Amino acid sequence: MPQEIFYTSNSKLQSLKASVLGEGVRFFIKRDDLIHPLVSGNKWRKLEFAVTKALLENKTHLVSYGGAYSNHMVALAAAGAAMGFKTTCFVRGDEIENVTNHYLALAKLNGMELIPVARDKYRNAKEELFNTYFGNNPECKMIPEGGESVDAFIGIAAIIGELKLSPDFILHASATTTTAIGLAKGLREHAHRFTNTKILAVAVLKNVLEQETKVKENGVSDLVTVVDGFQSGGYAKANPELMSFLKAFIKETGIMIDPVYTAKALFAMKEMIASGQIPQGSTVLFLHTGGTLGIFSDRFLSVL
Ligand SMILES: *Cc1c(COP(=O)(O)O)cnc(C)c1O
Repeated sequence: MPQEIFYTSNSKLQSLKASVLGEGVRFFIKRDDLIHPLVSGNKWRKLEFAVTKALLENKTHLVSYGGAYSNHMVALAAAGAAMGFKTTCFVRGDEIENVTNHYLALAKLNGMELIPVARDKYRNAKEELFNTYFGNNPECKMIPEGGESVDAFIGIAAIIGELKLSPDFILHASATTTTAIGLAKGLREHAHRFTNTKILAVAVLKNVLEQETKVKENGVSDLVTVVDGFQSGGYAKANPELMSFLKAFIKETGIMIDPVYTAKALFAMKEMIASGQIPQGSTVLFLHTGGTLGIFSDRFLSVL
């Protein structure tokens, strides 16, 4: 049964007092983490338009791809359950037949069918998988991995329309640049209100060149800077310095952050304030993209 859509556009915008980030800068935080307790706000923004289109196209079944720790997978499962879609996810790595984790468990709880796929096959034959399993079913819609699509830009750009202030910087955790480019498109749409705003997209994995290329290809290099140097060892890796920052931030603010995405972005913010790259007197908006599930992985819990 389709339920009322749980998506609440216009997530809260709060001012933030956090001495752990530094002094001399005004902080605001856009609480996309509050859109849903488990779904990454960012992933929901990316899905919103695609899923709404699927409803209009009379699709009943959404199919996508993801790793075993994918925020996108959980978001799609929860959105599917809330909106009355069947959902399926091809999951990278056939080891998930024997082990589970909180992401896979949540996906299953929300009724998602999980199809494990060996890594080499996953890498090389993604489209083919959809075609083989669901290609001739007109009720099935394929949603790209991570929700990365033109539809996703529209959902992300809406964040800008919701802002009642015009910060000097909007800072967020960046992996594929879909969020950064969507935000930049939003700034262009509302250019009259955002004459000075720049986006700082903090790379959470070592793919900075790739991210910069995508920013250029989309014609938004004037608005987006991909920030390098805060990967803390690589994707989903966290060094002790990052973990102690994460603990200090949560303790001071009561706002949950995770070691994979949001803690890296906030740590970068702190360092850029200290170095003057974010000048004193600036107004900085941190986009909290969600991803809170990230902290509940054993390897992070064990070092808290
Ligand atoms: C996926 C994700 C990101 C990265 O978004 P991109 O659009 O891929 O750059 C940031 N934060 C969280 C919590 C995410 O789940």
